[in-house]
Amino acid sequence: MNKIIVKSTIVEMDGDEMTRIMWQMVKEKLLLPYLDMNLDYYDLQLKKRDETDDKITLEAAEAIKKYGVGVKCATITPNRDRVKEYHLKQEWQSPNGTIRAALDGTVFRAPILVKNILPAVRSWKKPIHIGRHAYGDVYKNCEYRVSEAGKAEMTFTNAAGKELWRGTIQDFRGPGIIQGIHNTDKSISSFAKACFTYAYDQKLHLWLGTKDTISKTYDAQFRKIFEDEYQNIWKAKFEKAGLEYFFTLIDDAVARIMKTEGGMLWACKNYDGDVMSDMLGSAYGSLAMMTSVLVSPQGYYEFEASHGTVQKHYYKYLKGEKTSSNSMALIFAWTGCLRKRGELDQTREVVEFAKKLEQAALETVESGIMTGDLMLVATPAPQNKKVYTEEFIAEVAKKLKKKLD
Ligand code: NAP
Ligand code: MG
Repeated sequence: MNKIIVKSTIVEMDGDEMTRIMWQMVKEKLLLPYLDMNLDYYDLQLKKRDETDDKITLEAAEAIKKYGVGVKCATITPNRDRVKEYHLKQEWQSPNGTIRAALDGTVFRAPILVKNILPAVRSWKKPIHIGRHAYGDVYKNCEYRVSEAGKAEMTFTNAAGKELWRGTIQDFRGPGIIQGIHNTDKSISSFAKACFTYAYDQKLHLWLGTKDTISKTYDAQFRKIFEDEYQNIWKAKFEKAGLEYFFTLIDDAVARIMKTEGGMLWACKNYDGDVMSDMLGSAYGSLAMMTSVLVSPQGYYEFEASHGTVQKHYYKYLKGEKTSSNSMALIFAWTGCLRKRGELDQTREVVEFAKKLEQAALETVESGIMTGDLMLVATPAPQNKKVYTEEFIAEVAKKLKKKLD
C-alpha cells in the first residue's frame, strides 16, 4: 500500500514518562505504517529542556508559528522533587505555559464520548466544551514569601517613568504570602474572539463565568470585553443561529452546568479552565477521554492530551510491571493535528485517515476493549475486558488496518 502523503510539515513535541512511551507506540503502530510525514521534531523531555536552558521549548513555539500546526506529548512541569530527581539547574517553567504565552492562544477542550461510558452527571447528554484562556493570571505571576511584619504595596509606573498608582495589598503583622497577577486587554479580547468564533463554528451556546462582584476591576474587565465583542460583532449572528451568549457569576455557572444537558462552550479564565477541564474529563469518564487544542488568534494550532505524564504508571513500567494506561487522548491529539493539517493543505486523504483512526479508537472502547481507567466507569457488559497499554493500541491498529484495506 502506498503511504498517504502529508503535504506540509507538522511540529512534533515529544515529552516525558509514560506518555513518552505511549507516544512512541502510537507513532509506530498507528501512524508511521500509513503516513509519509515531514516532522519537525523537538524533544521536550525534561532532561533536554534542562540541557538547553529551556531554549528548546521556545524553538518549538517558533516552529509552530512557522508551520501553523503542532502536536505535543505531555511533559513534566518540574517542582522541587523533580529538581532533585533529574538534577536540574532550576525549576523550569511549564512548557505548556511557555508555548501558550508565545502563541497567546485559547485552549479548547472537549470530552471524547463513547456509548458505553455514561457521564457521572446524569443530565449531561452532549459534550461540554471548555475554552480556557491560556494567558496570564496565576500562570504568569509574581509572588513573594513575606517573612515578617511589614507593608505590601502594589504600584504602577508608566513607560515614561511616572508613578500613576499605588495601593496597599496588606499591612502584615507577621509572615504571609503575596502575589501579583496581570492580564492584558489584547489577550482577553483575542480570547473572547476565539470563543465566539469556536462556539459559532461548532453551533454551541457560549457561557462565561467570572467573579466580578468581588473583583470589580480585574474580573469585571473580562465581562466587559466579552459583552462588547458580543454586542459589536456576534449578537445578530448568534440570534439568527439560535445560539445564546450567557454571562453569570462563576459559582452560579458551576452550579447551573450540573443541571443542563450540555452542548455549550464554557469560556473559563485560566485557572478555572485548568481545574474545571480536569473535573469534566473525569466526569465524562477519564482524564484520557478529553481532547485539547490551543488556537492562537493568528490561526496556529497546537494539539495535545490534557492529562499529565501519568507518573505512577511510568514508575511501574520502569520496574518491569505491566501498565494499563489509556492512549485515547494522545491518539486524538494526533488525529486533531492531522485533520487540521489536511484541512489547511486541502488534502482529503489526510482528513479521511484522521477520521478512520478516531473511529477505530472509539469502536475499540465500544467493543468492550479498554484500559483500567475506563473499566471502572464503563457500563458493565460481558464483553468488557481490561487490557494493557500496548494491547489497547494493538487492537486499535487491527481495526484501523481493516478500515484502510
Ligand atoms: P496525570 O499524569 O494526569 O495523572 C494523574 C492520574 O490520573 C494518574 O495517576 C492516573 O490515575 C490517571 N491518569 C491520567 N492520565 C491517564 C491515562 N492516560 N491513562 C490512565 N490513567 C490516567 O497527573 P499527575 O500525576 O498529577 O502529573 C504527572 C506529571 O504530569 C507532573 O510532573 C505534571 O507536571 C505533569 N503534567 C503535564 C501536563 C501536560 O503536559 N499537559 C498536564 C498535567 C500534568 P491512577 O494512578 O489512579 O491510575
Ligand atoms: Mg489541570
